[in-house]
Amino acid sequence: MKESDLVQAKTYRDRVSTVTEKGNRNWVYAQKPEGSFYSIREKLAWLYLAVFFILPFIKVNDMPFFMVNVVEGKFILFSKIFWPQDFFIFAIGMITFIIFIALFTVAYGRLFCGWACPQTIFMEFVFRRIEWLIEGSPTQQKKLNESEWTTEKIIKKVSKHLLFFTFSFLIANTFLSYILGVDRVWAIINEPISQHIGLLLGMLFFTVMFYGVFAFVRDLVCTTICPYGRLQSVMLDKDTMQISYDYQRGEPRGKMTKNQERAFGDCIDCKKCVHVCPTNIDIRNGIQMECVGCTACVDACNNVMQKLNLPPGLIRYASENEIHTGQKTGFNTRTKAYTVLLSLLFLFMLGLLITRKPVDTYIARVKGQLFQETEDNKISNLFEAKIINKTNKDIPVDLKLEGIDGTVRLVGNQHVVLKKEAVNDLTFFVDIPKANVISRSNNIAIGVYKEGEKIQTVKTKFLGPFKN
Ligand code: SF4
Ligand code: SF4
Repeated sequence: MKESDLVQAKTYRDRVSTVTEKGNRNWVYAQKPEGSFYSIREKLAWLYLAVFFILPFIKVNDMPFFMVNVVEGKFILFSKIFWPQDFFIFAIGMITFIIFIALFTVAYGRLFCGWACPQTIFMEFVFRRIEWLIEGSPTQQKKLNESEWTTEKIIKKVSKHLLFFTFSFLIANTFLSYILGVDRVWAIINEPISQHIGLLLGMLFFTVMFYGVFAFVRDLVCTTICPYGRLQSVMLDKDTMQISYDYQRGEPRGKMTKNQERAFGDCIDCKKCVHVCPTNIDIRNGIQMECVGCTACVDACNNVMQKLNLPPGLIRYASENEIHTGQKTGFNTRTKAYTVLLSLLFLFMLGLLITRKPVDTYIARVKGQLFQETEDNKISNLFEAKIINKTNKDIPVDLKLEGIDGTVRLVGNQHVVLKKEAVNDLTFFVDIPKANVISRSNNIAIGVYKEGEKIQTVKTKFLGPFKN
């Protein structure tokens, strides 16, 4: 076996990257990446954090822009309330989401994890930065962890964990604002504790959970706990674009020796790609389940290549087939087709959301009731309606019979005002001149009007006498 092969065989993974040879937790001391990808990720992270913290405060027409109240089953997207009656949109949304995740992963690998997942964003751009600020570089952090307890160590550890807890509290509050709305979260904070014991406990629970995740669990979320991370291993194939090491170009790897002609590949085995990896893997061992596609190793290796005057891209975004054949495949037809499909699904969902009606009406004849003949020679049917007002304002409406002579006669109130965010029940008669009732079962349409403008037409059946 050649020397380089021996090195490779020795370093090839034989256990999970986060576990030591003795089976203990292998704490990751990731170095700060530097490079073009990291700088783009940094900008995106700031944008993401700004959106995350600002979005719950945005209201349109006094309605939160985005709220997912799973406790009360109240969902608000783009300041529109979605009800259980909008379940089909959610069902289609969920199916679209699952297809989206599957297609996206098959085409682009775990790009979402490294570039958009909240866990990565908070870990890499908030909590790890606090750690760097207080405890110094990864080497200094390791030294501090292994050192005896001194006043300096206590001060550093206490300050770090206090800041971690404060940020976790902020994240938990914002997270709860997405569920309950900012006004209620503000009330929990300001009003006497006794009035919101349950919600306060919920807030504390989330704070402790986030603190635990970012202070201790960390990379284990991505490598062991997250179901999406586990799923990706069955979704990727040889055409999937992902972070790959070009072993054709890099191997056999070997150290750089001054004034000697190089008999190795381009990888100088500096391990910089490993030291920046937040999940502590060596991407040179091939595609691994723990890789979150963060591109930190790409930046690290590109910097090394630049210093060696070699072309960048020894580690790059490429498919397994591209690396194997040495042919630049880029985005193949399948990836392009999936991208088109993903865009169509996204537009379809957007279309459903935009065209969703603010008022939904269901009309049916009252069960067990036949028709009545009135003294003025009309046939009358009794109907009941459920009208859901999905807006946050009361809406006055009128019901009118469409396309046929006849009237809608409300039982009780002659003016209907639909209560906001509620299901409104109505009972009414439809009277149609006998001559116009042509058969036993007749199709009729009832228009729902708001301030003279028709907002919905509902079709239903009208019963009449048997005709010879
Ligand atoms: S950073 Fe590049 S050159 Fe250094 S070990 Fe990793 S792949 Fe090899
Ligand atoms: S292997 Fe590279 S892309 Fe994957 S997690 Fe590690 S640093 Fe990020």
